Amino acid sequence: MPATITTRFAPSPTGLLHLGHAYSALRAWRAAREAGGRFLLRLEDIDATRCRPEFAAAILEDLAWLGLDWDGPVRVQSEHWGEYRRALDRLAARGLLYPCFCTRAEILREVAQAGQAPHGPDGPLYPGTCRRLSPREREARQAVGEPFALRLDMAAALAAISSPLFFEEVGEGRIRCDPAQFGDPVLARKEMPGSYHLCVTHDDALQGVTLVTRGEDLKPATHLHRLLQVLLGWPAPAYAHHPLLRDASGRRLAKRDRAPTLRALREAGRSSEEVQALAGEAHP
Ligand code: GLU
Repeated sequence: MPATITTRFAPSPTGLLHLGHAYSALRAWRAAREAGGRFLLRLEDIDATRCRPEFAAAILEDLAWLGLDWDGPVRVQSEHWGEYRRALDRLAARGLLYPCFCTRAEILREVAQAGQAPHGPDGPLYPGTCRRLSPREREARQAVGEPFALRLDMAAALAAISSPLFFEEVGEGRIRCDPAQFGDPVLARKEMPGSYHLCVTHDDALQGVTLVTRGEDLKPATHLHRLLQVLLGWPAPAYAHHPLLRDASGRRLAKRDRAPTLRALREAGRSSEEVQALAGEAHP
């Protein structure tokens, strides 16, 4: 373990922060401050259809109101496409990526036809249709401008690493990775040279994050992130996946269910200390 830690909070500006976000941000911030370490803030805004600048601005404002401070400038993912493209190029140069022309509807149709298709953490596993295209067909379809995503060829990636992978979960120890549960994941979407899995792993490495603090819903993703780290020669941070906040009926707080936003609590007259306490108490 390094002498001190660097951890982060990495929200996507697709809405206003709610208590669940406050809990996650506070956990990371306290972990850093108690250890005399660094706390970074990163906006994961690669999905232009869902992210909005006004939510990005609101996130900074709400976190500052809550009493959090962060070290260094805020990293905004959409400003760094060239960096993600270079990481993709390195994987492509080793023959680990292939273009996938399938639409979502085509994939779902094929999965439905196959009867019981296996599911991974991101949904039904890709049936591998475009992995089987000939180089000629790939070139022809790219030449006419057909849009394509880039998928990791999981079998090739696993063949390229020599030993089993593990990640370090704080309080649990070493966990053996099973990246194959993702099938052939998308590392670059049709409309952008990147995907959540690629960009988050890239940035944690680039920013020197030694402790990834995030909700336990993202724990399965770590199995894939560890593989990307090894393929790309990036260091392995430790992970602290925390439980998600739940409402009185036990359902996890989510934007779509109109969980109380920090902004609404503030407008209702709650102080930042009260909201900090609420975020702590709401936890089982
Ligand atoms: N941007 C992701 C989200 O808002 C979190 C990424 C992470 O912490 O690894 O769900």
